[in-house]
Amino acid sequence: MKELHLHYKRLGTALALVMVLFGSTRAFRHYFSSEQALHQELAEPTAANNSSEPEIQETTLTLGKGGNVHKLLTSFGVSKEAAIQITNAFAQYVPHRNLKSGQNFNVRYKRSEEGVEIESFQSQPSIDQKIIITKADGNYVSKAQLIHLTPVVHVFEGNVHSSFYSAAMKAGVPTKLVQEAVDVLSYVVNFQHGIKAGASFKILCDALRNDKGDIVKIQQLRFVSLQTGGQDHKLFAFTENGKVRFFNEKGESVVRSLLQTPLNATKLCVTSGFGMRRHPILGYNKQHKGVDFGAPSGTPVLAAGEGRVVACGWSGGYGNRVHIRHSGGYETVYAHLKSINKNIRPGAVVSQRQVLGGVGMTGTATGPHLHFEVILNKQHINPMKVQALPSLKLTGGALKKFDSVKSTTQQEMVNFVQTKAVTGL
Ligand SMILES: [Zn+2]
Repeated sequence: MKELHLHYKRLGTALALVMVLFGSTRAFRHYFSSEQALHQELAEPTAANNSSEPEIQETTLTLGKGGNVHKLLTSFGVSKEAAIQITNAFAQYVPHRNLKSGQNFNVRYKRSEEGVEIESFQSQPSIDQKIIITKADGNYVSKAQLIHLTPVVHVFEGNVHSSFYSAAMKAGVPTKLVQEAVDVLSYVVNFQHGIKAGASFKILCDALRNDKGDIVKIQQLRFVSLQTGGQDHKLFAFTENGKVRFFNEKGESVVRSLLQTPLNATKLCVTSGFGMRRHPILGYNKQHKGVDFGAPSGTPVLAAGEGRVVACGWSGGYGNRVHIRHSGGYETVYAHLKSINKNIRPGAVVSQRQVLGGVGMTGTATGPHLHFEVILNKQHINPMKVQALPSLKLTGGALKKFDSVKSTTQQEMVNFVQTKAVTGL
């Protein structure tokens, strides 16, 4: 570092000028290294004579926002003609519009007085393909190389401290897969009051692994389990007629008549977790008539089940409220909404998970939360105690098939844990 500092001082204004001209620290580094080479040449004249060719160097170039391959190359010092050739060769496999900022290119090049000459230019624009451009007989030619991916079964596991979502993210579960697991579990789990800190979860999926051992793509969620406070939810994916649905251990569909968590659960913290102190989150009792879900303002509130809107709008202490009537004598009420979606009107038919509006604090509320009530035959009941009948139970041949899928999945879980113990993967 000291040497660099002295060198920098000695180069003085000339170097500053180069930096201004090239406008990047990378240019500084290249200038610096060729300057160093020059010093070596002066010190060892014989060696310099033998190697009049500039040496091949390697670097990684990254596409900036709104950038393109041509600009990237010319600003690196490549001639316009060569940049056009390389850009066209690259575009044979990857159209320009498919490139995103942040895309890396590995470059081997020579730098001389005439500028930068590219020897090879490589990129991996997708998980299973590498594009390689090389110079042959003065022209640039491109080829695509397929990257071998192995289908594997992968299991993510962890423990919930503040929220299921953050625990899953911490366990390395990709966002889309967390969302899928949350959606499936929302039918049977209250993500705020039904999960105790310390709850454990497992998520098993089909995935693709590259030759370095990294999971590069999740293909299908196959199993999710959540163990909390003596409850053990185990949900298995089962495909029938090309449609994937989730069933509990008994082969009952988890798509119950009412959701246990009628809002986007990714934003929910468990009751005992941190971040909940700002607003009182009430459980069910006779006076309170419902369950409160503390969530950031604007979090989408979902219809707990299919039904018809019987009332919606301002209602005193409830603030903005939506009231839905379902089948089987069930009704649900959603209160303190920040706003109600335009298509939610008295008489409107809503489907399960349809967005009603956003979490707010209208009416009598000290902080943003959803007040959720469930009414059965005109009586308020504890939403967490709703024992709605599963909407579908597998029977006969389908149940046999499901049982076999279930035991395969359980065996895969055991195998994964054993392999992990041996290889430490
Ligand atoms: Zn409440």
